[in-house]
Amino acid sequence: MLEPKIAEAVAQEIATRLRLFGLSVHRAEHQGQIRLGAVGDSAGVDWKAVRGWSGVADVSPFPRPFQLVSRTFHPHPTVITVGRCAIGSEQLALMAGPCSVEGEEQAFTIAEQVAKAGATILRGGAYKPRTSPYSFQGLGEQGLKLLRRAADAFGLAVVSEVMDTPQVPLVARYADILQVGARNMQNYALLHEVGHADRPVLLKRGLASTIEEWLMSAEHILSQGNAQVILCERGIRTFETYTRNTLDLNAIPVVKELSHLPVIVDPSHGTGIRDKVAPMARAAIAAGADGLIIEVHHDPDHALSDGAQSLRPEQYRDLVDQIRTIGKVLGRTL
Ligand code: PEP
Ligand code: MN
Repeated sequence: MLEPKIAEAVAQEIATRLRLFGLSVHRAEHQGQIRLGAVGDSAGVDWKAVRGWSGVADVSPFPRPFQLVSRTFHPHPTVITVGRCAIGSEQLALMAGPCSVEGEEQAFTIAEQVAKAGATILRGGAYKPRTSPYSFQGLGEQGLKLLRRAADAFGLAVVSEVMDTPQVPLVARYADILQVGARNMQNYALLHEVGHADRPVLLKRGLASTIEEWLMSAEHILSQGNAQVILCERGIRTFETYTRNTLDLNAIPVVKELSHLPVIVDPSHGTGIRDKVAPMARAAIAAGADGLIIEVHHDPDHALSDGAQSLRPEQYRDLVDQIRTIGKVLGRTL
């Protein structure tokens, strides 16, 4: 924290001296004072000496292990604009679509229905992380092409999962948002690769990850230069087995306090049960989530993955109407 009313030249000089330690310096205004966030390995820095520099009012360590994702460091919320949606603003991000892209007719039918209901971003997996090697693994690049065409036909943006480092440029060619799945939340090579990509990243929380581990994974992406990270709570493993996962709605207000990044909720994987999706979606928005990612299928009984948790298009439309009403109370729009 620099002295109040410090001369600009002095502030810049202090920033330069910090950079000479090999730290990256991020400047923010805090209650009329300039705060310099010095990020990196500072083991060799004599912070007592820094506190004595002229113009320096105070030196304090980041209160948590994460830095770039921290609200201490960046008090204002990050807003990520994708297509017609400003994710992290008062506008709620509505992402919807099938678990997997299965074919042209399926992709176009669902895209049309979710667009009509009010979604702005089409989801759909082309590279699928499946528990069994004998389950449908996705259509690959062909699936990405279909997803892109279906989204463009109805004015939607695209989010799709990238499973592996070499896939990043390929998925980035077709998708507006790169999804890192729950199973890959701690695949640090992949986090670094998407950290260099010119696309926002949707980072799902790992199956058994703490909030701190999740935020540290986001820190990996930001540390590579990509500040456009959307966090997604999708349920965690607990002793409860009735539902597929336990959707941790606590995580929403906790992450909102700790971080400036937008946080959305996936009640489809969070519950695994079609008729539990809408109540948890409503609860997520009431708890302050910045949006929802929901699986929708026009023929869920024949879906190639996650049919049991997929909403039918009319169920999705009714849910969006309810979300609109709940959002209004909270000053949020669609
Ligand atoms: C998905 O979005 O279809 C998916 C596989 O999600 P998760 O990584 O959260 O299991
Ligand atoms: Mn799925």
